[in-house]
Amino acid sequence: MPRPILATIHPDALRHNLARMRAAAPDARVWAIVKANAYGHGIERVFDALRGADGFALLDLQEAERVRALGWRGPILLLEGVFDPRDLELCSRLGLWHAVHCDQQIDWLAAHKTQVPHRVFLKMNSGMNRLGFPPQRFRAAWTRLDALPQVEEISLMTHFSDADAPRGIAHQVRSFVETTHDLPGERSLSNSAASLRHAGDLQVRGDWIRPGVAVYGSAPDFPEHDIRHWDLQPTMTLASRLIGVQQLLPGDTVGYGSSFTADVPLRIGVVACGYADGYPRHCTTGTPVLVDGVRTRLIGRVSMDMLAVDLSPVPHAGFGSAVTLWGRADDGAVLPIDEVAAAAGTLSYELMCALAPRVPVVVG
Ligand SMILES: *Cc1c(COP(=O)(O)O)cnc(C)c1O
Repeated sequence: MPRPILATIHPDALRHNLARMRAAAPDARVWAIVKANAYGHGIERVFDALRGADGFALLDLQEAERVRALGWRGPILLLEGVFDPRDLELCSRLGLWHAVHCDQQIDWLAAHKTQVPHRVFLKMNSGMNRLGFPPQRFRAAWTRLDALPQVEEISLMTHFSDADAPRGIAHQVRSFVETTHDLPGERSLSNSAASLRHAGDLQVRGDWIRPGVAVYGSAPDFPEHDIRHWDLQPTMTLASRLIGVQQLLPGDTVGYGSSFTADVPLRIGVVACGYADGYPRHCTTGTPVLVDGVRTRLIGRVSMDMLAVDLSPVPHAGFGSAVTLWGRADDGAVLPIDEVAAAAGTLSYELMCALAPRVPVVVG
């Protein structure tokens, strides 16, 4: 028997969340963001559920090849554009649309020999200060691109730094709109948080939204809002079983470093899941865990292959009982990945992407 740990990807939830994002921005087209191997879910595992999207957006050229290999003939967007002039050959061959965020990428395009002119998304740095042309250099970049025979159509994009947070997006929207108002072309501005929180504003909604994490069942602005508030469903479940039970007496400790000490008699379960499976080691006593669908808490330190849970809320549980680390339990009980991420001081993105290769994954 393999270890009982298992990750399950839920196509029904992916479909639901995609529909939910579409409804949040009516009339806009939707990029399904499948970078980082579909946020750790696996491009091949999510493809069928997400093929109702208008296009797939990603970073890695190999990921673009995988999406084409699955038979997708629609739009594919390279969110960071090309990393090397030779990548443009693959863009021409596979019909990839690509971001253009710096002068080097325009130089490479100008020197690129192609029969098929490219569709590009010219990226503006409206305040995030990662990639893109700053407003004062944006129009010059647009004019240069517009003059190239290698370019068929120019769309305009920018990315928000605080769509999930109090600072908000108004300053970036203002900068983008002021700079681009009289330029032709489709617009794409919104990630998950902006699509859910701000897409009532047509300028924010644009022609294409780019929701990532919400499609994967996470509330982008947790803990202000949770997935129930946004009507999103978990798309990844990490589940395992109890492989041991211990009865503690007051004064007994649990795990490495004895970070937990029982002050009353306590039954605990030992779960076949540790940080080598991708469960965050930073989770401490109190992190929520479901045992037989009942909410209880992690106790002590997470070790490489095991962690311990308090069985007092689930007295019937014992050896072999089902454990849900995040996602949904067999009885439908839900433990949002956002809660586990928050307990580890990080974001759901990191947990999804860090699911370890040793964990078997099924679709169901
Ligand atoms: C990753 C990414 C997104 C999606 O962001 P979420 O917060 O996951 O919705 C959108 N746009 C760009 C440019 C990205 O890199």
